[in-house]
Amino acid sequence: MSALVTVDKVHKTFTVGRETLTAVDDVSFTIARGETVGLVGESGCGKSTLARLLVALLQPTSGRVVFDGTSLDRCSPRELRRLRRRFQMVFQDPHASLDPRLRVRRILEEPLQAQGVPRAERQQRVREVIEQVGLPVDALERFPHVFSGGQRQRIGIARALTLKPDFVVADEPVAALDVSIQAQILNLMLDLKRQHGLTYLFIAHDLSVVEYVSDRIGVMYLGHLVEWGRRDDVCRRPRHPYTQSLLAASPQPDPGQRTRRAEAVQGEPPDPTHPPSGCPFHTRCPHVMDICRRERPILEESAPGHGAACHLE
Ligand code: SF4
Repeated sequence: MSALVTVDKVHKTFTVGRETLTAVDDVSFTIARGETVGLVGESGCGKSTLARLLVALLQPTSGRVVFDGTSLDRCSPRELRRLRRRFQMVFQDPHASLDPRLRVRRILEEPLQAQGVPRAERQQRVREVIEQVGLPVDALERFPHVFSGGQRQRIGIARALTLKPDFVVADEPVAALDVSIQAQILNLMLDLKRQHGLTYLFIAHDLSVVEYVSDRIGVMYLGHLVEWGRRDDVCRRPRHPYTQSLLAASPQPDPGQRTRRAEAVQGEPPDPTHPPSGCPFHTRCPHVMDICRRERPILEESAPGHGAACHLE
């Protein structure tokens, strides 16, 4: 399968007071057309920054993001506007991301209007898309506050789909929802992907959520990609001690299928403005060795398509 998205040695830093915070450190991976890639890691590991880099809401400090053969850093504003139709984002908090002063119809029409879509076509499209996400057409005339959390997230998904994108970045789309509603939204997203040939980057802090929807999974820790591979390889044969800890902390419907046992990760992540020397996970790793404090391990494949950044490899 050809890559729709290529993340090539992407590095992103922010200045915080007098400190430099490295949010994303030398991350590379691809997302094939029609694939769902899941990114998992604790809060503050850089996954949401990476999401914004992929839809050009942020620019990398170095490295590049290539979308369907076009490097986003080389795009003219006009080209970028044209490309923006093709990649959209679903946010974590549907309450905060929907303007409470606007009716749903207006919320869904806005991206179409920004792209110069004629009125009659806009009206037709918002009716189609509200039904695709399982809401009645009369929902278009209401304000966001009358809907439940799950219904608001359906509206957030509808807004992302109005322009018929190829690629959707979903940043913690079910984290704010009750567990029973989470499954409905995940299944809706999977159905929409099948029906419309979408490609997803799906971000969550809960590995069981990412496992449910993803074809391949990347595990992030302190701005680094520390493990990468097919879903079953990462979730049943995890290589990196951090991934093993995330698995230990997530619900395990079939623990017998997992070959390594581990404890949930202990302690807090280090201050990202003063990251540890060597392996970024060494301050919390139960297997830490001397070399881990000195040398940063490189992510290398130990099996086809599956690798971890760990000196135990
Ligand atoms: Fe643990 Fe060392 Fe591997 Fe880092 S490199 S994860 S500290 S064993």
